[in-house]
Amino acid sequence: MCDLTNPIFTDAEKAREHLEALYWPDGPACRHCGNADSSRITKLMGKSTRPGVYKCNECAKPFSVTVGTAMERSKIPLNKWLLVMHLMMAGKKGISAHQVHRMVGLSYQTAWFMCHRLREGMRDMSHKATGGLGGTSKIVEVDETYIGGKSRNRAFKEPAPKKAVLSLIERGGHIASFHIANVSYEMVRPLVITNVNRASALMSDESSIYPKIGDEFADHRTINHSANEYARLGGYVHINTAENFYSILKRGIVGIYHSVSEAHLHRYIAEFDFRYNNRSGLGIGDVERAAKAMKGLEGKRLTYRQPREATHA
Ligand SMILES: [Zn+2]
Repeated sequence: MCDLTNPIFTDAEKAREHLEALYWPDGPACRHCGNADSSRITKLMGKSTRPGVYKCNECAKPFSVTVGTAMERSKIPLNKWLLVMHLMMAGKKGISAHQVHRMVGLSYQTAWFMCHRLREGMRDMSHKATGGLGGTSKIVEVDETYIGGKSRNRAFKEPAPKKAVLSLIERGGHIASFHIANVSYEMVRPLVITNVNRASALMSDESSIYPKIGDEFADHRTINHSANEYARLGGYVHINTAENFYSILKRGIVGIYHSVSEAHLHRYIAEFDFRYNNRSGLGIGDVERAAKAMKGLEGKRLTYRQPREATHA
């Protein structure tokens, strides 16, 4: 449980100290040149200086804990950044910009941008560095789903096109999901082979794109949904893990976010993947999950592109 009465959620200075401890467990390090020698870093204390500013005596530049993060130059107090991240990380389905706007006292637009910035830090492809999802005697489920495109309440409008999502999910382990333009061999194969360890057993539905991809793995089994064959061979052949994830994703996107536009879908997917990969079933609590997500904001300033204001969703 995360305690919302914690002063880090109400006091900007306490929030800054919390971030410093999180980002700099061994003391401040210059955000510009990397200097971490405490004898070569001075904390600026002058009356005209903003709190939390240090001066690096190596490169002579000032820095604070938010430089180089998604929070740099933000006018939103740091305690609100922490609060919203905690709200987003507690529970399984996230929090909408409307809820943040009402609960945290930010304009809707500010809340919307902030939520997207927080999602930027959640993109985690670290499995690639360790040989991919799965491995010897491990099972990876591959499945795809479609988001949106319902004709409900759109009697006089063309329904929005459905958006395809591909998920690769190691049973008992991590997930990696992708927004793809269409479900085709050309689109799916590169993602499967670059994200899944070839020694894995691959489980898929009976789509015609999978037999050829499956040949590249140690084993490949397919589930025939149409024949009501959900779990063959004593629970070995199934893609229920992926389907359970999709039910959370869809309930979240429909129930919390109502709809998401194509341009931003990858960020929502990153958020749902992140919560799944840091789920309580793996022994990760709300506080630790939020701290890890905050850590992800480091180094995100340079790669972050501002979403266009016209495309709120
Ligand atoms: Zn420096």
